[in-house]
This record gives sequence, C-alpha cells and structure tokens, in this order.
Amino acid sequence: MTDYNKKRDFNKTKEPRGDGPKKKHEKPIFVIQKHDATNLHYDFRLEIDHTLKSWSVPKGPSTDPSVKRMAIPTEDHPIAYADFEGTIPEGEYGGGTVMIWDNGTIESNKKDENGNIISLEDSFNTGSIEVTLHGKKLQGKFNLVKMKGGKMSGNWLLMKQEDAEADARRNPVSTQPKSVVTGRSLSEIAEAENGNQKKQE
Ligand code: MN
Repeated sequence: MTDYNKKRDFNKTKEPRGDGPKKKHEKPIFVIQKHDATNLHYDFRLEIDHTLKSWSVPKGPSTDPSVKRMAIPTEDHPIAYADFEGTIPEGEYGGGTVMIWDNGTIESNKKDENGNIISLEDSFNTGSIEVTLHGKKLQGKFNLVKMKGGKMSGNWLLMKQEDAEADARRNPVSTQPKSVVTGRSLSEIAEAENGNQKKQE
C-alpha cells in the first residue's frame, strides 16, 4: 500500500487511507469506479490477497465477447476504497469525480489441468485471470490477460467470455451511466460535494 499512500495527501482528499486494518470479505468483491479525472476512465478493481488489484480501463468494460478492452495496471488500493464515491480535490492525485459504477462479488473460474480451481492470487501472479462477476450491471465470465512482449507488454486486456450474459448490443457503459449505489450521475456527485463544502465554510 506504499504507492497508494505516497501518491495521496490525506489532509486534502477524503479517500480512505491505505494503512487501515486488513479487511477480507467472505466472498471476494469487485468494484468498477467511473473516474472523471484528466481523462474519463473506469477503474476496475478485484479483491485479491487482502487488497484491491486495480486496472484503469479507458473505454470501460464491454459485454461483447469480440471486444478487447485495454486495462492498464495501477497501484493496489485498500479494500475500503470499494465504498468510495465522491470527489478528489483538483491538484491532488486523481483529482476529479469518482462514481461507483458497478460492484458485486467474484469467483475464480480458472482451472488447472486436473480441473481444480486456481486461486485469484495465483491467477494474478501468472497474468491470466478468469473470473465470474456477480454485479448489478455486469454478470458472467470475464478474462483479464497480461500481455507479454511487444509494445503493450505489461498492460492487460479485459474481455467478456461467451456465456448467457454475453451481449454484443448491450453497451452498459453508455446505457447505464449512473451510480449503482446512489443512482447519481457524475455531475450530481460533483454538485453534492461542492454544496457540502460551501456549507462547511
Ligand atoms: Mn482512476
């Protein structure tokens, strides 16, 4: 969590500190945070090994199995970050508005040659995650695969897998743009926060 804490001034941002007690859910969780910073992107986070392993997905997830979305790894975030929706002050790291776009639980589908499930930890470490998402907007199987070699080496690809929830026409990023927790749009979140600040002055 060193990277996470070093990038942030907790006197200025309301984001959770990275050195709180190590939490772990009975069923590991995921969260996708829509983040209107310098560039709008979607932060895809999976609970693995007591932390939120994180990727920035510029275009957001797709439910179309023929689409591969670039997922750029970012620093581990504390589990408590999954509940963060609000604004990060301008000038601070990641300054802008954060919305909880989707959340839920996950399970690993990745199997070894004997058909035994490979843990999320081992999958992450080998750069190949096969996971089922039980979210509100996203369900079913997604793969995250680390690219090795070439210009894009070190980045990952997020891909929907063929299953009952695959749908090439759904496009939830544009048709379901609001917070899955509060129903707010990005501008409603930003306005609410600014209003609160004014009241405190
Ligand atoms: Mn972000």
